[in-house]
Amino acid sequence: MINLERFNQIKKEADSFHATLVAVSKTKPLADILELKKNGQKDFGENYVQELTEKQEQCTDVNWHFIGHLQTNKVKYIAPFVHLIHGVDSESLLKEVNKQGEKSGKVVSCLLQLFIADEETKFGLSFPEAEQLLNSDLKKQFPFVDVCGLMGMATLTEDEHKIRSEFKSLRMFFERFKSANFQTLSMGMTSDYPIALEEGSTMIRIGSAIFGERNYKK
Ligand SMILES: *Cc1c(COP(=O)(O)O)cnc(C)c1O
Repeated sequence: MINLERFNQIKKEADSFHATLVAVSKTKPLADILELKKNGQKDFGENYVQELTEKQEQCTDVNWHFIGHLQTNKVKYIAPFVHLIHGVDSESLLKEVNKQGEKSGKVVSCLLQLFIADEETKFGLSFPEAEQLLNSDLKKQFPFVDVCGLMGMATLTEDEHKIRSEFKSLRMFFERFKSANFQTLSMGMTSDYPIALEEGSTMIRIGSAIFGERNYKK
């Protein structure tokens, strides 16, 4: 069940920070997506390739974001239509996105995922790894990829100070590379988006607050 009141409230908050709201619809039925679309939502996020491609086939006129961990061998399924890939965390993945972008005749927009959390399980590049990539000539190496920003996930904790300092570190790194073509900072989910917005997020990814709790964790 969609919580339209929460959706409208979060949308308003995001707007007031000039941030984009990505509605994370993973595990949720197409009907929910269509209902939210009717209420003006344009950006949707999924984190499993098969689920994304199935939903995209039935709902083509929205911006589909891939927010999960992307395996190299699955890039080909989403490259033709994906609006933004949030979780690029290796050079080999960039290489594959470039290859599939070329095949589809389009430049694929991507964010580099940075590891900012104090947890074992989250994917992402370290700051030095990302720095090395961003200092290389990505445009020349990967002409069919547009690396237009960064993404990160804070530690799942009640400690607001810790979350804030993790977002802050990502924001500070982002500022060093910010340019006309590098403007997107994807950070903040249901539990921590207000902090993320305060710390400079330009894109929040919200699932459970809008769609309700998921039955199984993905
Ligand atoms: C599931 C997911 C979200 C949304 O999580 P909620 O806590 O339900 O808002 C955001 N980002 C990523 C990468 C996710 O996998």
